[in-house]
Amino acid sequence: MEPATVALTQVTALVGDDLAPADGTVVIEGGRVAAVGAVPVPAGAREVPLPGCTVLPGLVDTHVHLGAPDGRGPLALLRALADHLRFQPGRRRAFLAHGVTTVCSLGDENAWVHDLRRRTADGVLAGPRVRIAGPLFTAPGGHPVATVGAAPGDDWVRVPGSPDQAREQVAALAGGEDPVDVVKVVQDRGDPARRTLEPIAPPVLAAITEEAHRHGVPVVAHWGTLPDLAELLEAGADHLQHLEPRGPLAGWPADLLEAMVERGVTLAPTLAVTEALLDAGTARTLRRRVLEFHEAGGTVLAGSDTGMPAVRPGAGLLREIELLAACGLGPAEALAAATTGPARTLGAGAPLAPGAPADLLVVRGDPRTDPGALRRIALVLRDGRPTTRRRPRRGETP
Ligand SMILES: [Zn+2]
Repeated sequence: MEPATVALTQVTALVGDDLAPADGTVVIEGGRVAAVGAVPVPAGAREVPLPGCTVLPGLVDTHVHLGAPDGRGPLALLRALADHLRFQPGRRRAFLAHGVTTVCSLGDENAWVHDLRRRTADGVLAGPRVRIAGPLFTAPGGHPVATVGAAPGDDWVRVPGSPDQAREQVAALAGGEDPVDVVKVVQDRGDPARRTLEPIAPPVLAAITEEAHRHGVPVVAHWGTLPDLAELLEAGADHLQHLEPRGPLAGWPADLLEAMVERGVTLAPTLAVTEALLDAGTARTLRRRVLEFHEAGGTVLAGSDTGMPAVRPGAGLLREIELLAACGLGPAEALAAATTGPARTLGAGAPLAPGAPADLLVVRGDPRTDPGALRRIALVLRDGRPTTRRRPRRGETP
């Protein structure tokens, strides 16, 4: 039987809200961090020397989809059924293998994702901690109803027809005994000139955010264009997902940027999901907008939009962190965007400190100065238990 206490020794730990380096030992007891820094190894503890390694909080992916069916038709139904039966073991394993110990599901079938959250929380299923929005709120002519054929009755969308219905639907999710962690809205008019998609009507949007806030639940928003952003800020949305050329390509409007920063509205630009679609110049401009938001005092978060084509679980978040660093944030701030940032603003994940759950990532080298260190994973712990290791790819330093 495994000893109850484990000591990771000869390490540098990145501690607290500012990921401050502390040389020495991380003691883990009963699935939690018991002590960190220049502390003695407790008698009877199993000592694991990891010289040259950095221990940091497990990574948080603030934007994933875990099981929503891709469109309709018999094949999609079969795939959805397989997801339901298997609870995505491959995805759960891949997240952990890349050091991702918490994911935020922003739009999945409500009953299914509640069940997945429960099963991963109590350890029945191995996997990252799952925080959930349940379904996503949209308009009858909005994404994903008008784009990928979600039907208004599907369990992964809510399409309120009035402010009253919106309040009712939010209360059912955010109140009660098993509330969601966040409420997700899609505010997107498509092409800004032609308004190809229908955004949520402002009175309905206001009702959604008010009701969510009444239950103490923050609102995370998918947005596309600047009018979408203005309406979200007006309604009081708390977190923004995506940054597209349809948005502030020509620059941030000063009033919107100021409102975002002043109200502590976070931005997860999900650069990895659009990377392959954009030309180099457009991508560079968007990266500059991320840096401008950061330099204005805004909080940037890391989200991969795993579940979209070409974004792989775990690997997508590591790529997003690299892209955030390349925006000019640098590796240390990019790391904060996937660890202490989500902990502070979303309650997702936790800083490394005594008492915190031992969801930890151990890498070779120093990821504060070398972004490549995040790919040199030595160990991933979830609730203090070692998880499966990822085999290095060809050409990668083991
Ligand atoms: Zn998404």
